[in-house]
Amino acid sequence: MNTTDREVHDEHSGSEPYESQIAYCSMPVVLPPRFPEITDSARLEAILTTAEKWVNGTVLRYYFFGRDTDGAYVTFDDGTREWRPWTTDAAHKDLVRSAFEHWKEQGIGLDFLEVQDRGEAEVRIGFMRGDGHWSGLGRDILNRGVNDRTMNLGQSLLGTSRGFDTAMHEIGHTLGLPHEHQNPFAGIGTISAHSARRTLSWCYSKTSTEHYGT
Ligand SMILES: [Zn+2]
Repeated sequence: MNTTDREVHDEHSGSEPYESQIAYCSMPVVLPPRFPEITDSARLEAILTTAEKWVNGTVLRYYFFGRDTDGAYVTFDDGTREWRPWTTDAAHKDLVRSAFEHWKEQGIGLDFLEVQDRGEAEVRIGFMRGDGHWSGLGRDILNRGVNDRTMNLGQSLLGTSRGFDTAMHEIGHTLGLPHEHQNPFAGIGTISAHSARRTLSWCYSKTSTEHYGT
């Protein structure tokens, strides 16, 4: 499965200082959809900037995995396997709750509600160690199975200010915000609040060693 491949072949695992690992987002590169029949650039621009976005007033429900069976095996090159749970502790849940609250405070027209039933949740958050920090982009997460993660936070977020920023950053992807360098119309229709925008301006890309902002 993908998570196994990512884990085994993740050249960053354990090879970098803690602080730079926490800033590393492994969100898959999402290419913008193609609309070859549309030649009106203004219309194309409007579609591209709203395709993954949620409708104003949407209440996004989020869920933390909580069963003993929630997790995945990682298979190493020597054939051994290790179970990596998707569950986490109360402190990490509280940190992520705070990040959702902070996004809400930006006045982005969305609300968030934690639910205990994964079947009700659009956003399902796992904490699989070594699987990187990532999230699906906007409404793309609706295409994932009810037992699948839509977001993973793959390192401890505690004991560093980057932890909160990491949660903010991945939630930003859930809200439909790509990395600025993946967005052909960066700056259009993005969150205006500086603190929120900042969380999406720093990131290491899987395909680039460039560092975006601070
Ligand atoms: Zn990212």
